[in-house]
Amino acid sequence: MEKNNIKKNNVYISEEEKTLNWDEIQQSFQKVFGKEVYTSWLQKISLVKEYNDYLILGVPTRFFRDWIVSRYLDKILEQVKNFKLSLNRIEFKIVDENKNSSELTKIEELNKVTEIKDSLLNYNRLNSNLNFENFIKGKSNDIALSYSKKVCDHLSRYNPLYICGGVGLGKTHLLNAIGLELQAENNVMFISAERFMYHFIKSIKKNDMVNFKDFFRKSSVFIIDDIQFIRGKESLQEEFFHTFNSLMDKGSQIIISADRTPMKLDRIQERIKSRLAGGLVVDIDVPDLELKINIIKKKIQEIEIQFKEKINLSEETINYVANECKTNIRELIGILNRLIAFSRVHNKVLTVADCKSILKDVFTQIRIITVDKIQNIVSNYYNIPLAEMLSQRRSRPLARPRQIAMYLAKKMTTRSLPEIGRRFNNRDHTTVIHAVKTISRLSEQDDEMRKNINQIKSLLLDQ
Ligand code: ADP
Ligand code: MG
Repeated sequence: MEKNNIKKNNVYISEEEKTLNWDEIQQSFQKVFGKEVYTSWLQKISLVKEYNDYLILGVPTRFFRDWIVSRYLDKILEQVKNFKLSLNRIEFKIVDENKNSSELTKIEELNKVTEIKDSLLNYNRLNSNLNFENFIKGKSNDIALSYSKKVCDHLSRYNPLYICGGVGLGKTHLLNAIGLELQAENNVMFISAERFMYHFIKSIKKNDMVNFKDFFRKSSVFIIDDIQFIRGKESLQEEFFHTFNSLMDKGSQIIISADRTPMKLDRIQERIKSRLAGGLVVDIDVPDLELKINIIKKKIQEIEIQFKEKINLSEETINYVANECKTNIRELIGILNRLIAFSRVHNKVLTVADCKSILKDVFTQIRIITVDKIQNIVSNYYNIPLAEMLSQRRSRPLARPRQIAMYLAKKMTTRSLPEIGRRFNNRDHTTVIHAVKTISRLSEQDDEMRKNINQIKSLLLDQ
C-alpha cells in the first residue's frame, strides 16, 4: 500500500483511488466560509484518505476536530459533495505534524476561538433538501410520517412527539422536514443532543449559563435529534430536564428523536423517560422491499434532474440492490451513489453481475454484527453448546470462548459493556472488562489466539 501513496500538499491517497483535487476544494472553502474562518480553520484540514463514499480528513488537534465537527461539518460535507457525489460521511484523524510548536499553536487557536463570533444561531441550520416532499412513504414509516405532518397542523396536540428507530431510517429527515414546515411562523430551534451538550459545556466554561438558558428556552418549537446521546451524562440530563419543563410550561412544541423507545433508554433518569413518553411515541421500522425500490427510483430521478443526465439502471438491477441492502436507507443511498459513479466513469449500463462485483465488499462490510451472531459463531467454532458457553461454569474450555465472545461483542458491535454483560447470562460489566483485557493481551502474546480470533472475525464478516 505505502508504495503507491503519494504525498503532495498534504494529500495522501493511493493513485488509483484518487479523484479529488484537494486544492480546488480548499479554494471553494475559502469562498464559502469567508477568509477569516478559512484561514483560522479550514485551511489546516488536509486530505488523508479517500474512499468511495467517505473521506478521512486530517486535523492538527482534538480540540480543532471538535470545533470543526460542531460548527462546520455539515457545510464541509455539503461542499465536498459538489466534487464527489457519492460522499456520505467524513471522518477526522488527528495528524500531529509539528509536535514541537504544539503549545504555541494551541494558545493561538484558543484565542481565535473567542475572536470568532460564536453565534448560537449557527447551529440552527435546517437542510432544505430534507423535506416532506422528498420523504417517501412506506409501511415502515407511514405512522411516523403522518404524525410528523399532523404535528405541524396542530401544534401542542402531540407533545412531545417522539420519533424512534434505528440508524439511517429517516429520523433526522423527518425532524428536519418538520422544522422547515414550521420555521416561517414559529421560532424553531433544531439541534442534535450532541450539539446541545457542546453548548452546555461551553456555556459553563464561559460562565454564561444565563444566555444558554435564554437561548434554548425562547423557542416555540424545539426539535432535538438523537436524544440517546445524553445517556449517562448526569449534569446534561439535569439541564435538559429543566429546558424541557420550561418549554412545556410555556406551551412550546417539542419534537424528539432517538434510536429506541423512551423506556428502553438506559442510564437516563426515570423522570426524563416518563416526560419523553408523555406525549406521542411513534417508530420507524426497517424499510420493506417496496419502499427501498421507491426510494432508489426517487433518488435516480433527483440526480437526473440535478445533473441533467440520464441514469441507466435497469429494473432488474434496482431490484437486486433493494433486495441485497438489508440494513438501512442511508446505506441504500450510499450504494446507489457508488453504482451511479461507476456507470458514469465507465460509461456503461450496469448489469446485475456488474453490481455484484462492485458491491461485493460493501455488502460484507455492512452486514450487521450482533451479539447473538457472535455467540453462535464462537460456540460453533469451539464446538461447545451455546447454553454451556453462556452458563456460569468456569472451566477453561468454556471460559475462554466465552471471553472471546465478549471481547468480540465489545469490538464489533456498538453495545455498551453493561449491555454485553446482560446478554451473557446477566454478568456484571466488570466481567466483560476483564474478558476484553484478557483477550486483548492474549492475542498480542499468543499467535494461536490471534489466528483463532481472526478466523472467527472472518466467519462473522463472511456470512
Ligand atoms: P436517521 O436520522 O434515522 O439515522 P436519516 O434521516 O439521516 O436517518 O436518513 C438517512 C438517509 O436516508 C438520508 O439521506 C435521508 O434523506 C434518507 N431517507 C430516509 N428515509 C427516507 C425516505 N422515506 N424517503 C427518502 N429518503 C429517505
Ligand atoms: Mg439522524
